[in-house]
Amino acid sequence: MKNSRRQFMILSAAGACTLALNGKVQAQAMVAETDPQAKALQYVVVSKVAGKYCYNCALYQGKADSAAGGCSLFAGKQVAGKGHCSAWAKKA
Ligand code: SF4
Repeated sequence: MKNSRRQFMILSAAGACTLALNGKVQAQAMVAETDPQAKALQYVVVSKVAGKYCYNCALYQGKADSAAGGCSLFAGKQVAGKGHCSAWAKKA
């Protein structure tokens, strides 16, 4: 009985660590300019178009002043807040 409770506690802690690490890894995955989809959309990490950045794009999912955030065109990855691509659309 005592042994199975200990095993449960160890497995629970291991599971929680795995979930935490998975979340951290996903949060760190950035879209690379060399990614085929990024190339197709002419995505760049630093926008060369004045006033048109990922952080003020309607498809950006991060906070307006964040360095990186999600984009509905790149599921599971993040784009640079100061990035840009050809699908940029003004945030309402
Ligand atoms: S659609 Fe393009 S410009 Fe808009 S957030 Fe995504 S990558 Fe950036």
